[in-house]
Amino acid sequence: MARGDMERKLAEWLRGRNGTDELSTCALVLAVVLVGLNILLRSFVVSVIALVLMAYAWWRMSSKNLEARENENGVFVESLGPLRPWIRNPAKAMAEARAYKHIKCPECGQRVRVPRGKGKVRITCPKCRHTYEARA
Ligand SMILES: [Zn+2]
Repeated sequence: MARGDMERKLAEWLRGRNGTDELSTCALVLAVVLVGLNILLRSFVVSVIALVLMAYAWWRMSSKNLEARENENGVFVESLGPLRPWIRNPAKAMAEARAYKHIKCPECGQRVRVPRGKGKVRITCPKCRHTYEARA
């Protein structure tokens, strides 16, 4: 079979299906990490968990119930909180972490992004208007 045929077949198969999203990618990455760890651990339970994670990721990717999968993924992504950018785009999150510092407002806990290396900065909280100083 020619290579173009394979690609066309894959595209056909993917049509109307969920494909990859953050939740499936995370499950797959976790499964691969567990398989790697299991080279040392040689645990039956760990290999079963890895298999279940792979099956779950596969089932999500091939699912045709797009609405349900999108809702699940939304809940998952929300639950990540500050980890979210690291799952979505690690390279971008890394650049972001190098260029900016996130400081919590002492009054309301709102996180504010300030450029790094500016020394002492005066911050006005965008949420509660409280003014405070922090080292960036
Ligand atoms: Zn505040």
